[in-house]
Amino acid sequence: MNSTIEGRLRNFKCRMCGNCCRPRGDVRLTAEDVDRLATYLSMDVKDFTARYTRLTDDRRGLTLVERQTGECGFLCEDNTCFVHEAKPEQCRSFPVGWRYPGFEIDCAAMKGDAADEV
Ligand code: SF4
Ligand code: SF4
Repeated sequence: MNSTIEGRLRNFKCRMCGNCCRPRGDVRLTAEDVDRLATYLSMDVKDFTARYTRLTDDRRGLTLVERQTGECGFLCEDNTCFVHEAKPEQCRSFPVGWRYPGFEIDCAAMKGDAADEV
């Protein structure tokens, strides 16, 4: 199974299912992420932090706030990201650079009927 996952990651092509932006834990923000997002939204860092972030569950940093349904507040109805050009590094690197255990169950690009076999 792992070799299949690694093979699919080499040819990874996002299918825009949006599942990685739904309840899957914290999107950990770096200081650079916060600066970039605030600039992108034409907000100062203090206002951005107050409106769009909260403490991570382990209280060691900041994450993006979610909607009541659990999805990221920046996820659009068509599964695009409202802040795509400025999105956090964790989001940029998913799933090739960073991923959570079991991500392949959620990710449409990793499914047998949606991913290109290698
Ligand atoms: S910032 Fe964008 S890519 Fe990252 S979780 Fe939110 S909607 Fe998804
Ligand atoms: S779960 Fe996979 S296919 Fe779906 S949006 Fe995220 S990276 Fe793309």
